[in-house]
Amino acid sequence: MSGGVGAGPPGGRGNCIPMTPSFMNLGLLNVGSLNLGLSGALGSPDLSGTSLVIGLQGYSLVAFWKPLILLLFFVPWAWVITKIYDKHAGRFFLPRRMWNLIHLSAGTAAIAVCLLMPIKGEAAFWVGLLAMIAILAADIVAYAVVANKDDRVPENFHIGFKMDSLTEKREAKAAAKQQSKATLLIRTPDKQIVKVPEPETPEFELRLFAETIYSKAMAGRSSQVDIAPAGTGTGAEAPYSVSSQVDGVRVPAETIPASQAVRVMDFWKVTAGLDVADRRKKQQGNCTIEHDGVKHVVRVTSQGVPGGVRMTLLFDPEQAVRRKPVQLGLLEAQATEMQAIIADGKGLVLLGAGADQGRTTTMYSVVQMHDAYTSNVQTIEMDPQWAIDGVRANKFDADKEGAEYSTTVRSVLRRDPQVVFVAEIPDQATAKEIAKADLSRARVFVSTRADNAVAAIEGWVKAVGDAKMSSNNLRGVVAQRLLRKLCANCKVGYPATPDMLKKMGVSGDKAVTLFKKGGQVLIKNKPEVCPVCQGGGYIGQEAVFEVYQIGEEERAQIETGNMTGLRASLKKRQLPTIQQAAIRKAVDGITSVEEVTRITAVGPAPAAVPGQPGAPRASVAPAGS
Ligand SMILES: [Zn+2]
Repeated sequence: MSGGVGAGPPGGRGNCIPMTPSFMNLGLLNVGSLNLGLSGALGSPDLSGTSLVIGLQGYSLVAFWKPLILLLFFVPWAWVITKIYDKHAGRFFLPRRMWNLIHLSAGTAAIAVCLLMPIKGEAAFWVGLLAMIAILAADIVAYAVVANKDDRVPENFHIGFKMDSLTEKREAKAAAKQQSKATLLIRTPDKQIVKVPEPETPEFELRLFAETIYSKAMAGRSSQVDIAPAGTGTGAEAPYSVSSQVDGVRVPAETIPASQAVRVMDFWKVTAGLDVADRRKKQQGNCTIEHDGVKHVVRVTSQGVPGGVRMTLLFDPEQAVRRKPVQLGLLEAQATEMQAIIADGKGLVLLGAGADQGRTTTMYSVVQMHDAYTSNVQTIEMDPQWAIDGVRANKFDADKEGAEYSTTVRSVLRRDPQVVFVAEIPDQATAKEIAKADLSRARVFVSTRADNAVAAIEGWVKAVGDAKMSSNNLRGVVAQRLLRKLCANCKVGYPATPDMLKKMGVSGDKAVTLFKKGGQVLIKNKPEVCPVCQGGGYIGQEAVFEVYQIGEEERAQIETGNMTGLRASLKKRQLPTIQQAAIRKAVDGITSVEEVTRITAVGPAPAAVPGQPGAPRASVAPAGS
């Protein structure tokens, strides 16, 4: 014990020496000769005789355990200042000598107050003890407060009150244990909880891996995770990629061996109630996952692909496609055109979007623009994502004996519906069925894969295989693409130059502030990763559209294959194209010029944008969440 104290703060060894005898004497004091010990240690002329005597009288009654109690507090204090504080001060260039002097004075004062407590009797010991503890604690806290305020001490080296390294180790151990614990509550389609396997078994490891996939996706705001063969190899070591999608952009994948991929895919298949043995057929099922009171639906889709099995975990599929028409992002002129198309109520309207471009979302929001209670609205889908109130969903099951999509379409159209949404055109027979149908009293929306309005029409003509027949009942076309929205919390503004505005086709001499992605915010004047977008700079997506009614003139152009004429006719309408709509969103500060360029692949090149990084905005509050 004397060694611990006597060793003292390495930097202030000299200062420490007087402390050793006083401390040692305290030990002697209580066992043996009080008067001698005390006068030897603290024999100072300043001490008042009276208080000294009273103090000593108190001590003369002391049993051997009393000094042990004192040591119980003194030794840890000495340990902290020599083993932690002194090193800490040395490391961050704090005034080490001064601090050692302060600690030494505090220690001396603590002992003095303890021994010289001017109270009679047994109480003296306890009051003295309390006073000693208070002084030692004040010393400990004082250093921590001053050091933590010092700019030289980085935040992660601030002093917290963990009195010994054992506590820290225990906590680290507990945290590690927590890490290796299954934390998710997973339920099968019939609401049964999937049991967590015994720890330290391969099944338990698998469970943890499956949970990690989910937790990482959630933390990164992913909408889905895909596990798929990543190369041409076969066997247990063949690479599989685990990638995710955030706001429609694929996030770089992690690669795992086929053996592990197959096991984790099997885990999800069992969980979603799918047939594990079937690795070819497309299967789909839902499970639910709860964590910290938050529940998510996970749609598990598995299908055989060349080289193995592909699995998609889609999070909250219903929520993903639920968007109100006003949230769609139609510009005003386009919303008016859309209303006119809906009001027309007959013929065929094409809804075009690229792969993963919110085709289903758009279809469902157009469905919502109809009153399903006053009109007969039906959908034909292979893979219904959302049961909308009042809308009859006809699920097409390709596995059913003799099932034909075109037959399903025909039978639905015969039932005299007012509005029918056809989610896919799997074959020419289906396209022909719709093209030749009498749509003088019914409206059919067909969802197709196309990047713009003209491409949607061209694709439709090709699908039908007959220009005249395909143009026959065409009354409108809507196309869309998704763009990522800038995170309002960290986007960085810069003035647009007149040259840029000209390139973007923005007229007027008003000053325009454009924004680029930030990803960082200033917290206490230090740049830190934006807490809202986790540094990505974008959060959420919005669609940009082309919306056109198709009239006599355009139908004639389609019939004769005059696509140049068709483009000219559509341009005459002065309705925004997808590119113009996207630029408008950049000017409005919703997205960046870089994002417009990315999704339209035309527009001004990013290099043309003067790089004015600007300072990250000093705010942490999520704006308009
Ligand atoms: Zn942000």
